[in-house]
Amino acid sequence: MNKPLILVIEDDVKVRNLIATTLKSNEYRFLTATNGESGLTLAVSQQPDIILLDLGLPDVDGVEIIQRIRSWSQLPIIVISARSEDSDKIAALDAGADDYLTKPFSVAELLARLRVTQRRLVAMAGQGGEPIFQNGRLKIDYSAGCAYLEEELLHLTPTEYKLLCLLAKDVGKVLTHTYLTEKIWGASWESDVASLRVHMATLRKKIERGTEEQYIQTHIGIGYRMLKAE
Ligand code: CA
Repeated sequence: MNKPLILVIEDDVKVRNLIATTLKSNEYRFLTATNGESGLTLAVSQQPDIILLDLGLPDVDGVEIIQRIRSWSQLPIIVISARSEDSDKIAALDAGADDYLTKPFSVAELLARLRVTQRRLVAMAGQGGEPIFQNGRLKIDYSAGCAYLEEELLHLTPTEYKLLCLLAKDVGKVLTHTYLTEKIWGASWESDVASLRVHMATLRKKIERGTEEQYIQTHIGIGYRMLKAE
Protein backbone atom coordinates (compact mmCIF):
# COMPACT_ATOMS: atom_id res chain seq x y z
CA MET A 1 0.00 0.00 0.00
CA ASN A 2 1.21 3.52 -0.80
CA LYS A 3 1.92 5.77 2.12
CA PRO A 4 -1.37 7.51 2.89
CA LEU A 5 -1.96 11.16 2.13
CA ILE A 6 -2.18 13.08 5.39
CA LEU A 7 -3.84 16.45 5.83
CA VAL A 8 -2.43 18.47 8.73
CA ILE A 9 -4.70 21.26 10.01
CA GLU A 10 -2.73 23.25 12.58
CA ASP A 11 -2.33 27.02 13.10
CA ASP A 12 0.69 26.84 15.42
CA VAL A 13 3.71 27.20 13.14
CA LYS A 14 6.11 25.35 15.47
CA VAL A 15 3.86 22.34 15.86
CA ARG A 16 3.01 22.37 12.16
CA ASN A 17 6.71 22.42 11.25
CA LEU A 18 7.47 19.61 13.69
CA ILE A 19 4.72 17.44 12.19
CA ALA A 20 5.74 18.35 8.64
CA THR A 21 9.38 17.47 9.32
CA THR A 22 8.38 14.19 10.94
CA LEU A 23 6.11 13.24 8.05
CA LYS A 24 8.69 14.25 5.47
CA SER A 25 11.52 12.29 7.05
CA ASN A 26 9.24 9.25 7.25
CA GLU A 27 8.25 9.60 3.60
CA TYR A 28 4.60 10.36 4.17
CA ARG A 29 2.72 12.39 1.60
CA PHE A 30 1.08 15.36 3.28
CA LEU A 31 -0.67 18.70 2.90
CA THR A 32 -0.92 21.47 5.47
CA ALA A 33 -3.61 23.99 6.29
CA THR A 34 -3.23 26.85 8.77
CA ASN A 35 -6.92 27.35 9.55
CA GLY A 36 -10.19 25.44 9.62
CA GLU A 37 -11.81 26.71 6.43
CA SER A 38 -8.77 26.03 4.23
CA GLY A 39 -8.46 22.63 5.93
CA LEU A 40 -12.06 21.76 5.09
CA THR A 41 -11.53 22.89 1.48
CA LEU A 42 -8.44 20.68 1.15
CA ALA A 43 -10.26 17.76 2.78
CA VAL A 44 -12.92 17.95 0.05
CA SER A 45 -10.65 18.70 -2.94
CA GLN A 46 -7.68 16.43 -2.09
CA GLN A 47 -9.46 13.48 -0.42
CA PRO A 48 -6.74 12.73 2.16
CA ASP A 49 -6.55 9.30 3.82
CA ILE A 50 -5.97 10.62 7.35
CA ILE A 51 -6.48 14.03 8.99
CA LEU A 52 -4.34 15.36 11.84
CA LEU A 53 -6.44 18.10 13.38
CA ASP A 54 -5.65 20.76 15.96
CA LEU A 55 -8.76 21.54 18.05
CA GLY A 56 -7.94 25.17 18.76
CA LEU A 57 -7.99 26.94 15.40
CA PRO A 58 -8.41 30.69 14.78
CA ASP A 59 -11.57 30.49 12.66
CA VAL A 60 -13.57 27.28 13.16
CA ASP A 61 -13.61 25.14 16.31
CA GLY A 62 -11.99 21.76 15.77
CA VAL A 63 -15.05 19.89 17.06
CA GLU A 64 -17.18 21.62 14.41
CA ILE A 65 -14.64 20.60 11.76
CA ILE A 66 -15.00 16.98 12.84
CA GLN A 67 -18.79 17.23 12.65
CA ARG A 68 -18.65 18.80 9.19
CA ILE A 69 -16.26 16.14 7.85
CA ARG A 70 -18.34 13.37 9.39
CA SER A 71 -21.39 14.57 7.49
CA TRP A 72 -19.79 13.23 4.31
CA SER A 73 -16.80 11.05 5.22
CA GLN A 74 -15.60 8.34 7.58
CA LEU A 75 -11.91 9.07 6.99
CA PRO A 76 -9.78 8.71 10.13
CA ILE A 77 -9.29 11.91 12.14
CA ILE A 78 -6.56 12.12 14.78
CA VAL A 79 -7.03 15.13 17.03
CA ILE A 80 -3.96 16.99 18.25
CA SER A 81 -4.64 19.46 20.99
CA ALA A 82 -3.18 21.35 23.90
CA ARG A 83 -6.43 20.92 25.75
CA SER A 84 -6.16 18.18 28.26
CA GLU A 85 -9.56 18.41 29.90
CA ASP A 86 -11.70 15.33 29.64
CA SER A 87 -14.72 17.22 28.35
CA ASP A 88 -12.85 18.45 25.25
CA LYS A 89 -11.54 15.00 24.57
CA ILE A 90 -14.99 13.49 24.91
CA ALA A 91 -16.56 16.19 22.71
CA ALA A 92 -14.00 15.46 19.98
CA LEU A 93 -14.46 11.69 20.24
CA ASP A 94 -18.24 12.06 20.35
CA ALA A 95 -18.12 14.20 17.22
CA GLY A 96 -16.36 11.32 15.47
CA ALA A 97 -12.62 11.71 16.02
CA ASP A 98 -10.82 8.36 16.03
CA ASP A 99 -7.84 9.10 18.14
CA TYR A 100 -6.32 11.80 20.29
CA LEU A 101 -2.84 13.18 20.92
CA THR A 102 -2.28 15.71 23.68
CA LYS A 103 0.42 18.37 23.26
CA PRO A 104 3.27 18.11 23.94
CA PHE A 105 3.49 14.75 22.22
CA SER A 106 6.52 12.78 21.15
CA VAL A 107 7.39 12.17 17.53
CA ALA A 108 7.47 8.45 18.35
CA GLU A 109 3.88 8.53 19.60
CA LEU A 110 2.69 10.49 16.56
CA LEU A 111 4.28 7.91 14.25
CA ALA A 112 2.85 5.03 16.29
CA ARG A 113 -0.65 6.51 16.05
CA LEU A 114 -0.27 6.90 12.29
CA ARG A 115 0.92 3.30 11.89
CA VAL A 116 -2.08 2.04 13.84
CA THR A 117 -4.46 4.12 11.74
CA GLN A 118 -2.83 2.83 8.55
CA ARG A 119 -3.16 -0.77 9.70
CA ARG A 120 -6.81 -0.12 10.40
CA LEU A 121 -7.33 1.34 6.92
CA VAL A 122 -5.74 -1.75 5.40
CA ALA A 123 -7.81 -4.08 7.60
CA MET A 124 -11.00 -2.22 6.74
CA ALA A 125 -10.23 -2.44 3.02
CA GLY A 126 -9.65 -6.19 3.08
CA GLN A 127 -12.13 -7.85 5.43
CA GLY A 128 -12.02 -11.58 4.76
CA GLY A 129 -14.39 -14.41 5.64
CA GLU A 130 -18.17 -14.20 5.51
CA PRO A 131 -19.35 -11.23 3.49
CA ILE A 132 -22.37 -10.59 5.73
CA PHE A 133 -22.81 -10.84 9.49
CA GLN A 134 -26.34 -11.01 10.81
CA ASN A 135 -27.38 -10.99 14.47
CA GLY A 136 -31.07 -10.30 15.06
CA ARG A 137 -31.83 -6.93 13.51
CA LEU A 138 -28.17 -6.05 13.27
CA LYS A 139 -26.31 -6.60 10.01
CA ILE A 140 -22.74 -5.91 8.88
CA ASP A 141 -21.86 -5.87 5.20
CA TYR A 142 -18.07 -6.27 5.28
CA SER A 143 -17.44 -5.64 1.60
CA ALA A 144 -19.34 -2.36 1.74
CA GLY A 145 -17.88 -1.53 5.16
CA CYS A 146 -21.37 -0.69 6.42
CA ALA A 147 -23.59 -1.76 9.29
CA TYR A 148 -27.36 -1.72 9.37
CA LEU A 149 -30.08 -1.93 11.97
CA GLU A 150 -33.29 -3.31 10.51
CA GLU A 151 -31.95 -2.47 7.01
CA GLU A 152 -31.35 1.13 8.04
CA LEU A 153 -27.76 2.31 7.54
CA LEU A 154 -25.97 3.08 10.80
CA HIS A 155 -23.76 6.18 10.71
CA LEU A 156 -20.74 4.80 12.56
CA THR A 157 -17.30 6.35 12.94
CA PRO A 158 -14.39 4.15 11.73
CA THR A 159 -13.58 3.28 15.34
CA GLU A 160 -17.18 2.33 16.16
CA TYR A 161 -17.33 0.21 13.02
CA LYS A 162 -14.08 -1.54 13.88
CA LEU A 163 -15.32 -2.21 17.43
CA LEU A 164 -18.56 -3.61 16.08
CA CYS A 165 -16.61 -5.91 13.71
CA LEU A 166 -14.36 -7.12 16.55
CA LEU A 167 -17.35 -7.89 18.78
CA ALA A 168 -19.20 -9.56 15.90
CA LYS A 169 -16.21 -11.73 15.01
CA ASP A 170 -16.30 -13.23 18.52
CA VAL A 171 -20.02 -12.98 19.16
CA GLY A 172 -20.90 -14.48 22.55
CA LYS A 173 -17.35 -14.09 23.92
CA VAL A 174 -16.15 -11.46 26.38
CA LEU A 175 -13.39 -9.34 24.82
CA THR A 176 -11.12 -7.63 27.34
CA HIS A 177 -10.27 -3.92 27.42
CA THR A 178 -6.64 -4.77 26.65
CA TYR A 179 -7.56 -6.89 23.64
CA LEU A 180 -9.86 -4.23 22.22
CA THR A 181 -7.53 -1.25 22.80
CA GLU A 182 -4.61 -3.15 21.28
CA LYS A 183 -6.66 -4.12 18.23
CA ILE A 184 -7.79 -0.54 17.76
CA TRP A 185 -4.87 1.61 18.84
CA GLY A 186 -1.92 -0.78 18.97
CA ALA A 187 0.07 -0.85 22.18
CA SER A 188 -2.02 0.44 25.09
CA TRP A 189 -1.46 4.08 25.93
CA GLU A 190 -2.81 5.10 29.31
CA SER A 191 -5.83 7.00 27.99
CA ASP A 192 -7.02 4.24 25.68
CA VAL A 193 -9.37 2.43 28.07
CA ALA A 194 -11.16 5.73 28.75
CA SER A 195 -11.42 6.35 25.01
CA LEU A 196 -12.69 2.82 24.48
CA ARG A 197 -15.47 3.50 26.99
CA VAL A 198 -16.51 6.63 25.08
CA HIS A 199 -16.53 4.90 21.68
CA MET A 200 -18.41 1.92 23.11
CA ALA A 201 -21.03 4.20 24.66
CA THR A 202 -21.65 6.02 21.37
CA LEU A 203 -21.73 2.71 19.47
CA ARG A 204 -24.29 1.29 21.88
CA LYS A 205 -26.42 4.39 21.62
CA LYS A 206 -26.55 3.89 17.86
CA ILE A 207 -27.25 0.16 17.72
CA GLU A 208 -29.57 -0.08 20.70
CA ARG A 209 -31.52 3.07 19.94
CA GLY A 210 -35.28 2.88 20.37
CA THR A 211 -35.25 -0.76 21.40
CA GLU A 212 -35.23 -2.94 24.46
CA GLU A 213 -32.81 -5.22 22.69
CA GLN A 214 -29.32 -5.38 24.09
CA TYR A 215 -26.49 -6.23 21.71
CA ILE A 216 -23.49 -5.27 23.81
CA GLN A 217 -23.03 -6.39 27.38
CA THR A 218 -20.61 -4.55 29.67
CA HIS A 219 -18.47 -6.63 32.01
CA ILE A 220 -17.29 -4.03 34.49
CA GLY A 221 -13.51 -3.97 34.87
CA ILE A 222 -13.12 -6.70 32.24
CA GLY A 223 -14.53 -5.82 28.85
CA TYR A 224 -17.46 -6.21 26.49
CA ARG A 225 -19.38 -8.99 24.78
CA MET A 226 -21.81 -9.07 21.89
CA LEU A 227 -24.87 -11.09 22.81
CA LYS A 228 -26.48 -13.44 20.32
CA ALA A 229 -29.99 -12.29 19.50
CA GLU A 230 -32.66 -14.81 20.47
CA1 CA B 1 -3.95 25.94 17.80
